[in-house]
Amino acid sequence: MTEEQLKSNTIDNPELKTNGAVGYSSIDTFLKRVKEKNPGEIEFFEAVKEVIDSVWELLEKHPRYLHTNILERLTEPERVIMFRVPWTDDQGHVHINRGYRVEFNSAIGPYKGGLRFHPSVNLDILKFLAFEQTFKNSLTTLPIGGAKGGADFDPKGKSDSEVMRFCQSFMTELYRYIGPETDIPAGDIGVGRREIGYLFGQYKRLSNEFNGVMTGKSAESGGSLLRPEATGYGLVYFVSEMLQAQNQNLEGQTITISGSGNVAQFAAEKSIHLGGKVVSLSDSDGAIYDPEGLDEEKLAFVKHLKNEKRGRIREYAQKYDVTYLENQTPWNISCDIALPCATENEIGEQDAIALVENGCRCVAEGANKPCQPKAVQVFLENGLLFGPGKAANAGGVAVSQLEMAQNSMHTQWSRSEVDTRLQEIMRNIHSKCITHGEAGGNINYIKGANIAGFIKVADAMLQQGLV
Ligand code: NDP
Repeated sequence: MTEEQLKSNTIDNPELKTNGAVGYSSIDTFLKRVKEKNPGEIEFFEAVKEVIDSVWELLEKHPRYLHTNILERLTEPERVIMFRVPWTDDQGHVHINRGYRVEFNSAIGPYKGGLRFHPSVNLDILKFLAFEQTFKNSLTTLPIGGAKGGADFDPKGKSDSEVMRFCQSFMTELYRYIGPETDIPAGDIGVGRREIGYLFGQYKRLSNEFNGVMTGKSAESGGSLLRPEATGYGLVYFVSEMLQAQNQNLEGQTITISGSGNVAQFAAEKSIHLGGKVVSLSDSDGAIYDPEGLDEEKLAFVKHLKNEKRGRIREYAQKYDVTYLENQTPWNISCDIALPCATENEIGEQDAIALVENGCRCVAEGANKPCQPKAVQVFLENGLLFGPGKAANAGGVAVSQLEMAQNSMHTQWSRSEVDTRLQEIMRNIHSKCITHGEAGGNINYIKGANIAGFIKVADAMLQQGLV
């Protein structure tokens, strides 16, 4: 929506005005309320704060958002489902995990967002991820709402049968709440091809329907070609756009990547395709530093190691005789571009300072919120190009939506067709960030992404009345 349209827009309905909104005359009053309502939810609070900081100026110019209490409505999930997941291990012992689905916002489409299986999963993390997902999905320009879910289950070290039993038990409860037009989960940390297969199989058995209820399925089970690659490829396409806006490109740039899972592997692959030199990968035990850079053969080794053998990244260092940085991250390695692709909060203030001092000029988030707020501040103060995850890693959910479209048409597009659409989507996201984030010759991608994501969701909510 343009400034003019915003000014003349008559969606503002006086009947929807609430007394409570009068209290939110400043950011601080509103944030204080969020903190009080969500005690101990630090990750969620930080995510809300970042969005509110970015959009507050817009709200002050267009008070209809404030008068209709849109902020409070936007920061309250539409629905949270929490459930017990009982399962037995191979020895017959009984285990209980906690499952969740946070259906955050369906203003612009059915709930969509990944499932995470990791011991650190709790309500705070999932609310933060689902809130972020709402704006990310809006930014893609595709009609999908925001959600996230998962369990505090650790697939690491479990046999295939144990993972299958867990997934079946998890889906036995979750299937009541999801559907191809309602809520469409996908993968995230700890939920890859294998888990999606088991989850989808159980859904199909319980519902007696083969439909597009999950994305990230294998091509044989109705998945989209290029979905596994989409987040990593999309990230690198976004970085290319950022560089292009500065008359630069990826050719010959030294790139550090963290993680060695889905996002990291394909971010590395596309970086190599575009002439970048990828010198690091990591997992939760440590990082490797390969000054010669990864090539196709080394990357194939990593994929086999991580996806089939489920081994540790230190084995790469042993095989190729390169440095292994035990219990360390790659952020002290000199680079031009850093792509954190492991998990949240993995770059702190000191890491950010080290990156700046070692010559890094661009950081883009493959993971969700891997950079702590103080690290982001360091990047912005030092004039680095900074691509927030909401924009930079949106390629995964975008291709998930393309998978939904293919499923509903009972068709499968070619790899190159999906790739062309993905590139176009990442280009669009980049230009939206510029539209709303450019000021004085600089581009604040965080502000741009948040404002663009916010306007569409907030306007849709106003149009739909108080629901
Ligand atoms: P994977 O499970 O495939 O890989 C995660 C990687 O991060 C692994 O190398 C893992 O190491 C490492 N890691 C996980 N937790 C930690 C930790 N606490 N400390 C250090 N390293 C850790 O997940 P994805 O690649 O799918 O996801 C990575 C990030 O990207 C997440 O933030 C996710 O939310 C985000 N994302 C993913 C999308 C997707 O399409 N998959 C879409 C958009 C964002 P180890 O094996 O030792 O656990």
